[in-house]
Amino acid sequence: CGIVGYTGLGPGATAGVTASSTPLDVTMEGLSRLEYRGYDSAGVALVGPSLDRVASAKKAGKLANLVEEIGLHPLPDATAAIGHTRWATHGGPTDANAHPHLADGDRLAVIHNGIVENFAVLRDELLADGVVFRSETDTEVAAQLIAKAYRETGDLTAAMGAVAGRLHGTFTLLAVHADLPDTVVGARHDSPLVVGLGEGENFLASDVAAFVSRTREALELGQDQIVTITPTSVAVTDFDGNPGEARRFTVTWDVAA
Ligand code: GLU
Repeated sequence: CGIVGYTGLGPGATAGVTASSTPLDVTMEGLSRLEYRGYDSAGVALVGPSLDRVASAKKAGKLANLVEEIGLHPLPDATAAIGHTRWATHGGPTDANAHPHLADGDRLAVIHNGIVENFAVLRDELLADGVVFRSETDTEVAAQLIAKAYRETGDLTAAMGAVAGRLHGTFTLLAVHADLPDTVVGARHDSPLVVGLGEGENFLASDVAAFVSRTREALELGQDQIVTITPTSVAVTDFDGNPGEARRFTVTWDVAA
C-alpha cells in the first residue's frame, strides 16, 4: 500500500548535499512514514555498481519484521533502492508473496501497488514461454513481462512503458535493474506516484510523506506516465516514450519530526 524509490550520489558526492544516510536507510524511513496507510508485508530491493544482482529482503508482517530480517542478513552497499508495503489482493500475506518480485536472473526487481486485472491471461502467456513463478501475485506477472521486454529492447524505461500499456487495472509500479545502478523507473495508472526533487538525490513515492523530511520540491505525475530518475535527472514520458510534463509543487505543510 506504500511505495518508495530512491537514488542518490551518496554523502559528500556533491557540494552542499547533506545526505547522510544510505539508500536503504532513506527507503526504510520512507516506508515507516507510509505505515499509516496500512499493510501486511514489506520489502526492499537494492542495486549498486558493485552488485551483479539485485539485493533484496522481504517479510510478511510489520516493518519491524523486515528490520529484524535485515539485521540477521545485512544487505550490501547500494546506490539506488525501492521499498514496498503490501496490502495483499492476489496471494496471501506470505514472505514469498511480499514484494519485491525478482526476474531476469534476479537482476530486475519490481514493486507494485494496485491490481493487475488481466494477470491470468498474461501469466498463461509467460507460462507458455517457460517462465517459472515464485509467488501467487498478479505483480510477478508484471515483473516477468518487464524482464522480457528489457531483454528485447535493452531499455528499462521503454520496457516499463510497453508493459504498462498492456496491463489492465490500477497500478503504481517501480523497477530497478542491476545494469542501471543509479536508476529507478516508475509507472502510474489510476494510482498515485509523486517525485521528490533533491540535490544529488531524487525520490519516487506514493505520497510526499515518504520524502518530505529531505525535500519539499516535488512533481505530481499525470495519468499514464512513466518516470525515470537518476541522482541528477528526472525524465517523464507517456507509455509510448513521448516526452511528458508533470505538475511541479512545493510541499508547504509542517513535517512531524
Ligand atoms: N496486487 C498486489 C499484490 O497482491 C499489490 C497489492 C498492493 O497494493 O500492495 O501483491
